[in-house]
Amino acid sequence: MKIYENVSLKNFSTIKIGGTARKIYFPESIEDIKFIIKKSKDENKKLIPIGVGSNTIFKDGILDYIFVSTKLLKNIKIQQNKDLFYLTLDAGVSFKEIINIVKKYNLEGFENLSGIPASVGGATAMNAGAFGTEFFDIIENVLWLDLKGNECLSKKEEINYSYRKTQFQNEGFVYQVTIKLKKSNKKIEKVIKEHLIERNKKQPLNLPTSGSTYKNPPNNFAGKILEEIGFKGKRIGDIGFSDKHANFLVNYSNASFKDLMKLLESAEKEIEKVFNIKLEREIKIVE
Ligand SMILES: Cc1cc2nc3c(=O)[nH]c(=O)nc-3n(C[C@H](O)[C@H](O)[C@H](O)COP(=O)(O)OP(=O)(O)OC[C@H]3O[C@@H](n4cnc5c(N)ncnc54)[C@H](O)[C@@H]3O)c2cc1C
Repeated sequence: MKIYENVSLKNFSTIKIGGTARKIYFPESIEDIKFIIKKSKDENKKLIPIGVGSNTIFKDGILDYIFVSTKLLKNIKIQQNKDLFYLTLDAGVSFKEIINIVKKYNLEGFENLSGIPASVGGATAMNAGAFGTEFFDIIENVLWLDLKGNECLSKKEEINYSYRKTQFQNEGFVYQVTIKLKKSNKKIEKVIKEHLIERNKKQPLNLPTSGSTYKNPPNNFAGKILEEIGFKGKRIGDIGFSDKHANFLVNYSNASFKDLMKLLESAEKEIEKVFNIKLEREIKIVE
């Protein structure tokens, strides 16, 4: 297994903010992950899995955690049973790679998720979703490791998940996920293309961003709330809420973590004052 020391975390987060990781592990097998979990216990340091880093923001300075990048966990197994396709995917497989399979076999079920810049592990932990579909809608089972390093194969029904939340945000490491898709009569490539155009219109994809900052509260939209308090386009230093989509933070050039936290805290204070509600952060902040 590869282990790198003193690595810039900017390269592990799509918003390109963050200091230096003392160490990052790159496991290539389930045994490597067991070894890392033991290391985390022995050194009494928190284990932090990193996928694409598209919902994660790291603080500046030195961070001394057990960081685990899933970049090298890339196995894919495809099984077909008549019209049904079961894809067993390692945590580091990207959604882009799933799209290639979906297009090749013309499969439906994944198209609404197609533009999310996720890894399988990150999307499972976050229960990522778009256009009314959540990743857990198509998940069959998850092979994961608990904090003691035990292998657990859980069926979807046995897993705690809800809107952008799962048990894996607090415990364990998602190693492998099986999803179920179906042969389609529609031209899936065209549907996916339309989705990507739609996302491109709404999201600030020309700047480094970390996706949705806050979860939508019941019957409302975080972006709308931020717009109503005047935070659409609001900027401190090089960090701002996008003027294209208020719920997306964007890094205009060389944003600092300190400015980012200042911006979040002032938005949260204002939302509480005006609407008397607390928005829950969707982004994962590693301090
Ligand atoms: C331009 C853009 C658009 C986006 N659009 C959407 C959208 O439409 N819908 C949506 O839901 N999200 C969206 N996001 C947010 C983000 O893409 C999703 O949350 C995605 O699922 C994160 O995947 P990741 O691999 O980048 O996870 P990361 O950001 O690397 O990690 C997210 C969390 O999961 C944990 N994690 C990662 N891998 C594992 C693992 N193997 N085991 C256990 N825990 C793990 C991390 O520790 C962290 O807490 C968007 C982000 C961007 C930048």
